Amino acid sequence: MITVENLTKSFQGVSALNGVTLDVEAGTVLGVVGPSGAGKSTLARCVALLERPDSGAIRVDGTDITSLDGSALRAARRQIGVVPQGDSLLRQRTAAGNIALPLESAGVPGPQRRTRVGELLDLVGLTDKAAAYPDQLSGGQRQRIAVARALAANPSVLLADEPTSALDPETTGSVLTVLDRARAELGVTVLVVTHDMNVVRKICDDVAVLEQGRVVEHGKVLDLVGNPVSRTSSALLPAVD
Ligand code: ATP
Ligand code: MG
Repeated sequence: MITVENLTKSFQGVSALNGVTLDVEAGTVLGVVGPSGAGKSTLARCVALLERPDSGAIRVDGTDITSLDGSALRAARRQIGVVPQGDSLLRQRTAAGNIALPLESAGVPGPQRRTRVGELLDLVGLTDKAAAYPDQLSGGQRQRIAVARALAANPSVLLADEPTSALDPETTGSVLTVLDRARAELGVTVLVVTHDMNVVRKICDDVAVLEQGRVVEHGKVLDLVGNPVSRTSSALLPAVD
């Protein structure tokens, strides 16, 4: 369970998050949507502990992770897997080598590492691509490897920032399947930033609409799609026929 309470963050006087409050139930998928500049990536980066908020709290299973330092901070970071916005694989490493990276950093011994990388390649359906370099993979395959890498250290939370933004609908489906498996088979709590309403409809349980650093709507996808309250969400969540 993740609880974000009254989170604020400014960059050189420009407010990116302006009192964001929301929660994500354990084992569910929350979609974060909203216009460009709304603060979606900033929120994701704060939850990933890549950015420190100015004020507010982020509780994971009750513990506020915003005030941690040193080894406690490093331990908390390991609980949170991140699929960054854009292409994030290392070009000079194979698919297997990319997935192994967080395991190497955590000091996992070689044999265990290879077993774990094999499991993850299987999870994302790319066992046959273990030795391929990112340039030899399609965009969707690269994103599936990025998800596998984010899951390598067995995190309880997975953050994905626009994981399907550069992909066609068919390839998007394969990435969504992998995110859904992470939730269903590993019990990971997922926060996915997206501007694609199909992503929200297909895999999200709940959706939060961000506008100018504030949550203007937050609720069950089934309740909100086709029945939006705010103007932004009417534009983002058009009624389905
Ligand atoms: P997009 O949909 O375009 O990815 P977003 O909702 O992810 O947008 P953010 O990247 O979170 O938006 O940015 C929110 C606001 O904070 C914007 O006004 C942005 O210019 C500003 N901002 C974000 N990161 C920084 C930074 N490192 N330095 C200065 N300003 C920043
Ligand atoms: Mg962004």
